[in-house]
Amino acid sequence: MKASFFSNLDKKKLRNDLILITSLLAVIAISLTILLTRPKPNKLYAKITVNNSLVESIDLSDQSERHYYINGTHGVVHCHTQNGSIGIIESTCPHKDCINMGYISTVGRPIICAYNAVLIYIEGVASYDIEI
Ligand SMILES: [Zn+2]
Repeated sequence: MKASFFSNLDKKKLRNDLILITSLLAVIAISLTILLTRPKPNKLYAKITVNNSLVESIDLSDQSERHYYINGTHGVVHCHTQNGSIGIIESTCPHKDCINMGYISTVGRPIICAYNAVLIYIEGVASYDIEI
């Protein structure tokens, strides 16, 4: 009787251990999946709008240097692309805030020239690939 009591206890302990190990393995597997899944940036596009209407969509992934002369509401806004980034280098606005904003190359930081109603922003699609 005594021996069977202990063996039952051992079985119960073994089952609890198995549950613990299984859940630990599951946690490790989930953590690895999260760690190995990195956002892979696809092509980035610079969008230029005047008065909320799109006038240019520029592929920034080829890194080339280009000039765009955008007709703003108060004159020409001279945009320039280099090394996958875009900025305004000449504008008719009085304060030149848009020029002072420099070049942008990431999503979520637009350049605005309020005077000319020009907005430049970066748009891109990130795909999630598992790399092992
Ligand atoms: Zn400006």
